[in-house]
Amino acid sequence: MSRFWSPFVKNLVPYVPGEQPKLSRLVKLNTNENPYGPSPLALAAMQAELGDSLRLYPDPNGEHLKQAVADYYSIQPDRVFVGNGSDEVLAHAFQGLFQHDKPLLFPDITYSFYPVYCGLYGISFETVALDENFQIRAEDYARPNGGIVFPNPNAPTGCLLPLVAIERILQANPDSVVLVDEAYIDFGGETAVGLVDRYPNLLVCQTLSKSRSLAGLRVGLAIGHPELIEALERVKNSFNSYPLDRLAIAGAAAAFADREHFSRTCNAVIDSRERLVAALQVLGFEALPSAANFIFVRHPAWDAAQLAATLREQGVIVRHFKHPRIEQFLRITIGTPEQNQALLDALAGQQ
Ligand code: PMP
Repeated sequence: MSRFWSPFVKNLVPYVPGEQPKLSRLVKLNTNENPYGPSPLALAAMQAELGDSLRLYPDPNGEHLKQAVADYYSIQPDRVFVGNGSDEVLAHAFQGLFQHDKPLLFPDITYSFYPVYCGLYGISFETVALDENFQIRAEDYARPNGGIVFPNPNAPTGCLLPLVAIERILQANPDSVVLVDEAYIDFGGETAVGLVDRYPNLLVCQTLSKSRSLAGLRVGLAIGHPELIEALERVKNSFNSYPLDRLAIAGAAAAFADREHFSRTCNAVIDSRERLVAALQVLGFEALPSAANFIFVRHPAWDAAQLAATLREQGVIVRHFKHPRIEQFLRITIGTPEQNQALLDALAGQQ
């Protein structure tokens, strides 16, 4: 705290991102990156952009990327918004689309950035408890609200909500924006993008950080009715008119066009996830059903915080959350078979 800080900054409670260690010998299974790496076509597109063109500002609207996303989903490009990581896209949505006269609703166990944005933008919120199986219950969202947001699959549980349940939430709330944060949708879920034409109150948010393995490039997007997209553009143009640089636009567009690399690497993650769950169950772990590139597990005999600390000493980092209902769980990012084996070897030493 400093006397030079504004009253606004004094009151901020910022988000704390997962650890990004410098030591490359660590097996890093803590922030849901994708171990299989970006599309070679995306890397080539960025290489091609490295030259004199960097002298010039990028396209402020990232039209080339919007078109690539529109082609991928067979939708019109005016339904697409692009930004600097989905964290930024979410921030614009919180500021531009949620009302202040009623509380925003989101699950009690969810992405911990949501309450931070509420603090930043002065939005009141109410959390809605997950059911006893850690699932979102659509009926619980049929109450007055200034908007609804949840990840699908949810984070950090990995549990998927079927599209029929999402439609029930949309139908019960025709006057609120329902933001479905699909950061992890490509690892076994069905996207809600196909519902956008029928529900003008639906905004779907996605990222290239997970299934397209470009967390370092910082690209996210939203898909929704053009009226919702216009609100995001207004906020963006009042904040940073060039959120995506030339490399990001070129690389992200090429990543969307490379369907072969995308589906091969997503399938490899899914396959690796199923093998890891089976191996952990043999060790006595219980895992929630995951449709994401991470799993949420607990062991009846081991304290999760202690286990995370011991694993770290052995060079494997996983994520532990302090929330009381989930403090006996660990969130483990799916690695390559070799990384998963390193985790299993470290756990074998615990017995
Ligand atoms: N939504 C959820 C649910 C996430 O877990 C994350 C990753 N921390 C994000 C959004 C943000 O991803 P990014 O900013 O890398 O696009």
